[in-house]
Amino acid sequence: METILSIRNLHKRYGRVHAVNDLSLEIHKGNVYGILGPNGSGKSTTLGIVLNVVNRTSGEYSWFGGNLPTHEALKKVGAIIERPNFYPYMSAQQNLELVCKIKGIGYHKVQEKLELVGLWDRKDHKFRTYSLGMKQRLAIASALLNDPEILILDEPTNGLDPQGIHQIRDIIKLIAAQGTTILLASHLLDEVEKVCSHVLVLQYGKMLYSGTVAGMAQQTTAWELGASDLDALQTSLKDYPDLSSMKIENGRLWIQGSSPIDGAALNRYLAERSIYLDHLSERKNSLEQEFLKITASK
Ligand code: ADP
Ligand code: MG
Repeated sequence: METILSIRNLHKRYGRVHAVNDLSLEIHKGNVYGILGPNGSGKSTTLGIVLNVVNRTSGEYSWFGGNLPTHEALKKVGAIIERPNFYPYMSAQQNLELVCKIKGIGYHKVQEKLELVGLWDRKDHKFRTYSLGMKQRLAIASALLNDPEILILDEPTNGLDPQGIHQIRDIIKLIAAQGTTILLASHLLDEVEKVCSHVLVLQYGKMLYSGTVAGMAQQTTAWELGASDLDALQTSLKDYPDLSSMKIENGRLWIQGSSPIDGAALNRYLAERSIYLDHLSERKNSLEQEFLKITASK
């Protein structure tokens, strides 16, 4: 798998605030990554460092395997980390043509990218007449003009109305489907859940989880068990391998494993001990419960 960005033991201190604390991660081509964490967890600082606009305190990062000087590598990175800003009295098309001129990109890209973000029919309208959602879509089009390898977005839906949020998320998915790697920072769990394939959970600058979005939910599969004698059931499971928690609640026994629990094996194990279940069901924790648990327990 091709590595787009690699971060090793990154630290950033602002005086007493340890904004990024020993962060290591790898971004691979073709995936959609969400950096998920509450406000102040170090998401924007991390993005600022790898985009060379914030100085790191220590640690390393490298783009595209480290074969290019940072300023060359960043030409293959599209990023929106601030509120979009264009010339208010120029149209969307004129604004993007200006970006093309500055970056040495052919003007034909303007139509392609405006169509991608659904603004082609509004190309002649002045930027100042655009809604916030349209401005954000224009910023995405602008960042994509040179067909970057990776698109970086910091809180892309902040301040937008529900329709605007929906449009931005659809556009991100479309861009990802075309093969562009995406790294987005968000404090919204459902945004990451809806848009991303991979998630990096940050809190106080530290990484608490990294892996697939599906894996984060899977980690916490709980099983709900019923039997005529719950105490006997609980006792017989005391030595069951890899159980991380067990409790009786609402007339049922709830168990969780530190690795996935196989329901058939569990049932067999109990039957061999003459415990017969009258209820066995798997309950996947929602990602939200999992996120709250991860960020609460550290
Ligand atoms: P996030 O993007 O996850 O909300 P930030 O990276 O913006 O988090 O901030 C991480 C921490 O660093 C916060 O405690 C924030 O107050 C602090 N911080 C960010 N930028 C600065 C700065 N320029 N000067 C001092 N402290 C800062
Ligand atoms: Mg931020």
